[in-house]
Amino acid sequence: MDIQVLGAHNCESQNTKCISLLIDDTLVIDAGCLTSSLSLEAQQKIKAVLITHQHYDHIRDIPTIAMNFFLRDTTINIYSTLAVYNALSTYLLNGKLYPKFLELPEKNPTIKFTMIEPYRVEQVEGYSVLAVPVNHTGPTVGYQVTSPEGKSVFYTADTGPGLADCWQHISPHLLITEVTVPNRYEDFAREAGHLTPNLLKQELISFRELKGYLPPAVVVHMNPRLEKEIEAEIATVAAALNTGVNLAYEGMQLHL
Ligand SMILES: [Zn+2]
Ligand SMILES: [Zn+2]
Repeated sequence: MDIQVLGAHNCESQNTKCISLLIDDTLVIDAGCLTSSLSLEAQQKIKAVLITHQHYDHIRDIPTIAMNFFLRDTTINIYSTLAVYNALSTYLLNGKLYPKFLELPEKNPTIKFTMIEPYRVEQVEGYSVLAVPVNHTGPTVGYQVTSPEGKSVFYTADTGPGLADCWQHISPHLLITEVTVPNRYEDFAREAGHLTPNLLKQELISFRELKGYLPPAVVVHMNPRLEKEIEAEIATVAAALNTGVNLAYEGMQLHL
């Protein structure tokens, strides 16, 4: 399994992009920078997009990729929860901001939307996909994606602390998780459903206690303005736990 980090941050700038992960060129998790990162040819290779939750930094390129597929008379599969479907159809693809690609063209809508049920394994383009609820503001699921060869990655999506129940359901070879702010913003992180390096450390300790091992972890969704501070604190966490915890960056390639 080859994973390319298209976007690794929670804010867009010249050097940073919103979150999007590309697996084996065909499967995507979150659409923070899909069209802005990929050529038209690379976009057409995408078979399915899994969306974790409705926040704008995770869905923003759905309208633009839908337009590109529509203009080529092709369709794209999107998998997510009812909350995400409702948000897309009400606010973005509502015929006012952008065409209703969830319904049009009538005979063969550009977006084929499949509702995901948490805790139920779904077969998506040859991969086994398991959605597991996490602790964020509004309904949010992380995804464990397992390749036909049996390699698996779990992406927590945006989440705050308290993942012990989530950990019970997964056994990934690689963990992609979030740290949005440094330790001094812990109150904000708890309130907004995000992690700091210290909060992540507690979650990784709980993972190791529950599962008896700890996969390497890659951190995304950093606030670019605070990234140097986060990076230094993550290095402390990695040293304390004696495990690999690294910050992601745009263009990072991961191989399982
Ligand atoms: Zn969010
Ligand atoms: Zn986010």
